[in-house]
Amino acid sequence: MAKFNLQNVEDYYEIGEVLGSGHFGQVRVVLERASGARWAGKFLKLRRSASSRLGLERLSVEREVEILQSLQHANIMALRDVFESRAEVVLIVELICGGELFDFIADKENLSEDEAIEFLKQLLKGVGFMHSKHIAHFDLKPENIMLADKTVPNPHIKIIDFGLAHRLTPGEEYRSLSGTPQYIAPEVINYEPLSEATDMWSIGVITYILLSGMSPFQGEKDEETLRNIAGMIYEFEDVYFNQTSAMAKDFIEKLLVKEKMERMTAEECLLHPWIKPLTRKQASCRKRSSINMKSFKKFNAKRKWKMSYNMVWACNRLFRLQLQCKGRSLADPELRQCESDQEDTETKPASLIRRRLSSSS
Ligand code: ATP
Repeated sequence: MAKFNLQNVEDYYEIGEVLGSGHFGQVRVVLERASGARWAGKFLKLRRSASSRLGLERLSVEREVEILQSLQHANIMALRDVFESRAEVVLIVELICGGELFDFIADKENLSEDEAIEFLKQLLKGVGFMHSKHIAHFDLKPENIMLADKTVPNPHIKIIDFGLAHRLTPGEEYRSLSGTPQYIAPEVINYEPLSEATDMWSIGVITYILLSGMSPFQGEKDEETLRNIAGMIYEFEDVYFNQTSAMAKDFIEKLLVKEKMERMTAEECLLHPWIKPLTRKQASCRKRSSINMKSFKKFNAKRKWKMSYNMVWACNRLFRLQLQCKGRSLADPELRQCESDQEDTETKPASLIRRRLSSSS
């Protein structure tokens, strides 16, 4: 069992404002008392007992920590320290100040493929490094691609959230039904062995969205999205892709391949002529093509709206559970402030995608 720092995190860091929330806790700014340096603290609630549904198993936290420790790369969020108490583990990580890449792009008037590629290259370098260590992220999506600082001329990408990441052992199969519907590969849905190529599919989906503002497999409901993925039902609709180069479509087509062994690897992507043009003609074609900004802005606004809706929905549900469990009424002022650690007693059907099926698509 991994040993984390058992001292009180607050003796070393002053806890500041909330930066974001995930399924298992919050991320806050933390100020290192000794140096005054700012970091981010990811506070993860631990599961109290084996039968409990709330919180994370310690083993999952250990896996996330072990993976982050072995990934030191300019495009991957760095881990500094880990504190543990009875109820939670706190990961002290690099503070990423530039917000999400998609929000940064949505604020622009226009963006050429050339400029978009500069971001994709960094994503591919980070993912390629991960894969060279036989680690797969398994949750690549816009929310997990952030910028170190958006005020500099060429912002630096940082990949975050290694909660679903896994170290793949050669000769051992790994299957999982976790992920976010829009971005998961057919092998996830079919509960087949996963590999580094599973991340490459998600990069294909992210690139498709980045260029067109449309999500390739998105259905009305998650079930329809999953059916579209499994049936490989997608197309490049002219109305959304009329500013896109043929090379960009070729790049996406070589990632959205059902047979995972036939998908491009991160290394191969970096050598694709769309990313690394070989001729002057290829280079100038990228400059002339641009992302469909009108559609992209719409996609991003909808995505942000869904994220806040999900957050409010989750808070309301927790609040209702508190009331049910304690047999108290909404008017009770104490309840508005307390943080529940009650068990979620609602019975859910065994869902296809365990962690996020209905939450973020
Ligand atoms: P999820 O339930 O989506 O897996 P999680 O509990 O694993 O979430 P993260 O996705 O790592 O948590 O973080 C939640 C949010 O906190 C992010 O979407 C992001 O907005 C913010 N965040 C995470 N890490 C950092 C960081 N190092 N610096 C700044 N903000 C961060």
